[in-house]
Parts: sequence; C-alpha cells; structure tokens
Amino acid sequence: MKNDIIVIGAGLGGLFSGAKLAKEGKKVLLIEQHTIPGGCATVFKRKGYTFEVGLHEMDGLHEDDFKVNMFRDLNVFDNVEFLKVPEFYRFTNERVDLVIPDNIDQAIKNLVGVFPDEEFGIRKYFDVIINLPKEMFSFPKKKWKQLLIFPFVPILYPKLVKYPKMSVGDFLDTIIENNDLKLVLLANLGYYHDDPYSISMSWYCMAQSSYYKGGYYIKGGSQKLSDYLSQVIQDNGGEVLLGYRVEKIIVENNRAIGVEYRKTGSENTETKIDFAEKIIANAAIPSVVDNLLSSDEAAVLKAKTMELEISCSLFSIYIGFKKPIKEIGNQYYSTFILDNEVKNQTDFANCLKGDLSSKGFVFVDYSQIDSQLAPKGKGVGSICTIDYTSVWENLTKEEYNRKKEEVALTFFDRLERVFPGIKQEIDYYEVATAKTIERYTLNPQGSVYGYAQTVEQAVPNRIKQKSPIENLYFASAWTFPGGGFGGAILSGYLCAIGILYDQWQ
Ligand SMILES: Cc1cc2nc3c(=O)[nH]c(=O)nc-3n(C[C@H](O)[C@H](O)[C@H](O)COP(=O)(O)OP(=O)(O)OC[C@H]3O[C@@H](n4cnc5c(N)ncnc54)[C@H](O)[C@@H]3O)c2cc1C
Repeated sequence: MKNDIIVIGAGLGGLFSGAKLAKEGKKVLLIEQHTIPGGCATVFKRKGYTFEVGLHEMDGLHEDDFKVNMFRDLNVFDNVEFLKVPEFYRFTNERVDLVIPDNIDQAIKNLVGVFPDEEFGIRKYFDVIINLPKEMFSFPKKKWKQLLIFPFVPILYPKLVKYPKMSVGDFLDTIIENNDLKLVLLANLGYYHDDPYSISMSWYCMAQSSYYKGGYYIKGGSQKLSDYLSQVIQDNGGEVLLGYRVEKIIVENNRAIGVEYRKTGSENTETKIDFAEKIIANAAIPSVVDNLLSSDEAAVLKAKTMELEISCSLFSIYIGFKKPIKEIGNQYYSTFILDNEVKNQTDFANCLKGDLSSKGFVFVDYSQIDSQLAPKGKGVGSICTIDYTSVWENLTKEEYNRKKEEVALTFFDRLERVFPGIKQEIDYYEVATAKTIERYTLNPQGSVYGYAQTVEQAVPNRIKQKSPIENLYFASAWTFPGGGFGGAILSGYLCAIGILYDQWQ
C-alpha cells in the first residue's frame, strides 16, 4: 500500500518528523535497521542496570526554547518525564575546582569569585552568548499566516540575519586573559566539537546559552522519549518497522518515489519495496550519498557535501556501581575532569584530539537524579570523552577488546583521583567506542553531531532539510541546525513543518 511518507531511521530527527507528520494525518512508514528506536537516544540493560547510551543532559525547556512548543504539540510532556539537572557542571583540573550553576547570575557570581580580575571578560562572555542567539534570527515574512495555521510554533523557519564568522577560541582570547577561566568555560566543549579554535560562535552561543537556562535528563532514560514518539506514529495509523535496513532510495527522473529494504543482517533474504509521496532520510547524509543513491542520482548532493568535515565521535564507559556515588561524597551530576598538563586552549584541543587515555572527560552520575536506572541501593554513571574511528582501525577482535579494557582502566585511575574510593564500588562496566556508535547508528566515522560545527559549516551554511532530489528530505544532526538532542529534534520538526506547509528556508 502506498504511504504518504517513508522515514529512513528512527533517530530523534526521524522520530520527530514522523510523529509530527503522522499526527497531521499523513500515513507514515518508518524503517529502522536496529531492533529498538532512538539511534543515539536509546538505553540498554545489563545485570539489572539501565545504561543510557547517549543523553547526559538536554538543554532548554525554558520559555525561549523552541522545543517546548514542539513537545506540547506532540503531548510529550504528558507522556515523558523530564528531570531537572541540579547544576550545569563541576569543573576540576587540580588548579581550579568550581561548580557552574545553570543560572546566569549565579554562574557570573561564582566565576567572578574565583577570577575577580576577569569580571569584565566574564560579563562580556555571558552578554554575548545570551544576546547573540536572539539577534541572529528574525521572524519569517509569512509570520502571521503561520501563526494562524500553526499557533504552537511562532517561528517556523527562522531567518538568519546576523552571525559571527568567528571561533569560540578566538572570541575567548579577545575578552579573557586567564587560561584556566577559558578552560572552565569550555569544559563541555565535547557536547559540540573537539577544538575551541574551529567551533563556530553561532552554534556554540545557541546551544550553550540554552544550557545556562536549564538542562534536563529523561526519567528512566532517553529510550522513553524515543518509544513515546514511535508510539505516536503508530497511534496515528503509521507503522514503525524495526530490524529492517534501507538499502536503496528509488529515484525516477530526479524524484524519490520509494525505498528498497531488507531484514538487517540477512543478505540472502529478498528485498522489500515500498513507495511513498515523500522520503525523509534520518540516516546520515554521507550514507545517503554513498550507499542509498546511485552515483548519478547523488551527483549534485555529493558535490555539495564531499568536502564537508564530519564531526567527532564519543567514547563511553557505562558503569554500574555497588552503591550510589553520592554515598562516597559526590554531590554533582556532571563533573568535567582535565589533566593538570592542559594549560590553555591549544593544549585542550590537542588533548581532545590526542591519546585517548589522557583526554579530558566527563563523569555523569545519573543516580544523583534518577534512581530508576539502577537496582535498589546501587548506582549508575558514565565516563565520556571524544573519540574517532581511526583510533580503532586495523585491530583484531582481541586487540580491540584488550585496548578497550586498557583504556577503561586508565580512566578508572583518573576517576579515583577525583573521587577517592570510587574504583572499589564498580560492579559492572561496558565500553563503547566510535566504532560501536558507527555500528549501531550507521553514522560514518561514528559521528554523533553530523557535519562538524566549524566556523565555515555552521549556520547559515548547513545542509537544509530539502534535498536537491525532488521529494527527498533530511531530518537529522547532519542538517540545519545541527547535532545533539536539541538540534536533531528541531531538524525533524522543521522537516515536517516544511513538508506540511511547503515552508523552506
Ligand atoms: C555517548 C553519547 C552522548 C551524547 N550526549 C548528548 C547529550 O548529553 N546531550 C545532547 O543533546 N546530545 C548528546 N548526544 C548526541 C545526540 O544523541 C545526537 O546528536 C542525536 O541523538 C542524533 O540524532 P539523529 O536524529 O541525527 O539520529 P541518530 O541518533 O544518528 O540515528 C540515526 C538512526 O538512523 C538509523 N539508520 C541509519 N541508516 C539506516 C538505514 N539505511 N536503514 C534504516 N535505518 C537506518 C540508525 O540505525 C539510527 O537509529 C550524545 C550522543 C552519544 C552517542
């Protein structure tokens, strides 16, 4: 039977576009190669522990946040519970140990308390990151018409009027002298990118200012959000087909008309074919170019994308603890830990791109806010840092496993220095590398943020949701505005709005 929409991939971009279109009466078929929906927004269970694959903290849910209206529109708040993260993060590098609240006035106060000579720079930093995002967008011309059609989302396709062609590193160098202060402010850089001197100010300011107004975890894990959206599609007459991989987008006269797909991992089974008015790829854009279209069909898209830099991946150690870590003295949800040798922004970039065992990392103590993830009386946490598939190439299975184990042990030693006694509380752990992410999401290089948010590749230059092939659209971290939960959700929703109201940037 012909569908209105086929969505390839059940990551957040695919789920939000599919759920919105299904709710608006479109017949949606979503095809996901994994056995669960969510992409990076999933959990897995071991020995009674629920391990969060991706989410540490989702920015936003404040009054200026686009996601609030989208969540209301899809009844997300009535079905998924969001837990407020108590502070933005703790930063420690032996020279400085400081807690950054997710409240701007309080953050300024704490920072000025430790770096009194830098008050001007600290105030300037917050002034720019808070005000720039507001100045960057204007209402689209058809604003009033849109408000009448769709009152929940006052800004549909925001128009960029101003954006700085500057890196965050360069910006910090112009306003702040103290290198430790720069490192404190950059602690969570890995949420976006791996280098302060190439990350775009426009992207950083949008995301970082939103984190300073609020951060959330999803009670029970991000799977709850993914499962709910999957259910919305099904409750509205759509179908979510898990465990099937799309192998080809069928194109006729530069028009996408359907997909060929097959049970994941069963090369000998027959392919199935389904047709639709419109196809949305949540699958990575480079995979669409290289694997799902013929070289002729992909030519225009390939020319636009082949030079683009792909974002970093992440390395995670998922840990089950014999008891909640607050019982051994930890009071904070996220702690960013940097080695003493990292003294300035260049060191920081080198450290994130360098040897895995000495990278700066974050320890997330989920049990501070969500006791549901661990069996009674136990705790759950994770260690996370930047990773690249290149680190894990050309290894036998045994070498790969041995290396994972060795790296994990060095991180446990580094964790022990900050939380004495924590090592002996480890009950179970599992390591995921860039290769693991590549395998489970099919994102090339295990990329978690799509195309890198460099000065050249960030808004306004990002690939848009409408592709050069008629009736083929994109909804993922690879498009406008970018990666992370917020970016992928917005991409999916804007894709659906674009299709419903023929409203494009
Ligand atoms: C360890 C980790 C920590 C993170 N922490 C945070 C955080 O704290 N805050 C935050 O905001 N973000 C975080 N992120 C990033 C965020 O999760 C991602 O940027 C975002 O979820 C990506 O969504 P997406 O829509 O692009 O799809 P993805 O999650 O990349 O999913 C794509 C989906 O498409 C499917 N697919 C691909 N090809 C095919 C095909 N041919 N056929 C069928 N299905 C296909 C894949 O199986 C996958 O399910 C983290 C990610 C990771 C991995």
